[in-house]
Amino acid sequence: MFEALTERLNAVFKRLSGRGRLSERDVDEALREVRLALLEADVNFRVVKGFIERVRSRATGAEVLEGLAPAHQVVRIVRDELTALLGGKAQALVLDPPWPAVVVMVGLQGSGKTTAAAKLGYFIHKRHGRRVLLVAADLQRPAAIEQLRILSQQAGCGFFSAGHGLSAPDVARAGVACADKEGYEVVVVDTAGRQHVDEELMEEARRIVEASRARQVLLVVDAMTGQDAVNVARAFAERVGVHGVVLTKLDGDARGGAALSVREVTGAPILFAGTGERLEGLEPFYPDRMAGRILGMGDVLSLIERAEQAVRADEARSVLRKIREDSFGLDDFLDQLRQVRRMGPLDQLLSMIPGLGQAKALKGLNVDEKELNRVEAIIQSMTPSERRNPAIIDGSRRRRIAAGSGTRVQDVNRLLRQYEEARRMMRLVTQRGGAALPPSGLP
Ligand code: GDP
Repeated sequence: MFEALTERLNAVFKRLSGRGRLSERDVDEALREVRLALLEADVNFRVVKGFIERVRSRATGAEVLEGLAPAHQVVRIVRDELTALLGGKAQALVLDPPWPAVVVMVGLQGSGKTTAAAKLGYFIHKRHGRRVLLVAADLQRPAAIEQLRILSQQAGCGFFSAGHGLSAPDVARAGVACADKEGYEVVVVDTAGRQHVDEELMEEARRIVEASRARQVLLVVDAMTGQDAVNVARAFAERVGVHGVVLTKLDGDARGGAALSVREVTGAPILFAGTGERLEGLEPFYPDRMAGRILGMGDVLSLIERAEQAVRADEARSVLRKIREDSFGLDDFLDQLRQVRRMGPLDQLLSMIPGLGQAKALKGLNVDEKELNRVEAIIQSMTPSERRNPAIIDGSRRRRIAAGSGTRVQDVNRLLRQYEEARRMMRLVTQRGGAALPPSGLP
């Protein structure tokens, strides 16, 4: 899914993070490539334009460019905006009494409407324990009625169809009446599609929605169709009214165009993703997870999240300032160790940061609780001036500190080496313009 798009975006961000300090031009250049990647994924050009403008205005502010890890922040902004484009917070299909609550499926022929109707029936029945009646009001495609009948049995749902002579709206109305009489709680109506949007189709869909007093009209969109889907979606949204979208065939090699355009164009949330032909292949849709998948950067992003949770921005800025002013002392070092400790196992963190995995000297820095206690004891056995300026700690001071903290001189030596190494790395990083990524190929 979205492989080509993911690959291209990854390449853009990789180049960006290799840069350290970013200028507005760097961001512009990266965004130009993001724009091309989205257009190539067949995202609607208006949608792309708005998206890029939003990202640019957030990403070129001083707070990002002069802050910590600007490249990561740009990635995060792109992810946030992708999430927003896909609908922001996940939304659920809400069906309440009075029963029966009616859902009407609309969309083009071949979009996966009949399959989605059955999957949805299965989902509502399984997840919510509701009794569901599937109503076959697709009178255009002869096989659709039989298809729905078979699927309804597999899905554990009831099935309703009417003989010849009734119009589709009449079938829908009769189906709802049947559900009411037989105590079904939810009705899912399958309707006819066409190859293309036409007047007749819109009119019929509208009349079915009216006749069945639909609570929810769900537009079924084939994710493989790219931005062709946009015109269809717009027509249905304007002419029939759409409450939610079911995006089908996300298990295929969809390029992303339909998925990324449909929410903005219809204004309706994407409620479900179709991920296979089987009845189980329907999942609630989560915009944030989809954005993460499109970016293919789960690890770095979760690292950023963890860092954000563990390290407060003002603390980080004060550390940066101290490093620039060369006043980063052992107390600060201890603070940093405590913060890293809050983020999780150190080796796991190191492996998430490109380039830092190779920093051998830091690998020996094992931040388990015991080690942290020892480090704390050593640092607390130092005088304030030793903590501020460890350079003055000579041999006799080392012996005094070891005795005072109940450790060995080697332990004190090791701590001082690690502190020096951390300071050296941080200075390197800040010299490159505040990027969190160290240059690759460090010792
Ligand atoms: P309709 O004309 O809109 O009712 O479309 P159908 O429900 O008959 O689906 C058209 C084709 O798409 C069928 O072969 C389905 O099996 C297939 N299909 C539907 N949904 C999905 C999906 O989520 N993934 C995949 N791979 N195929 C699907």
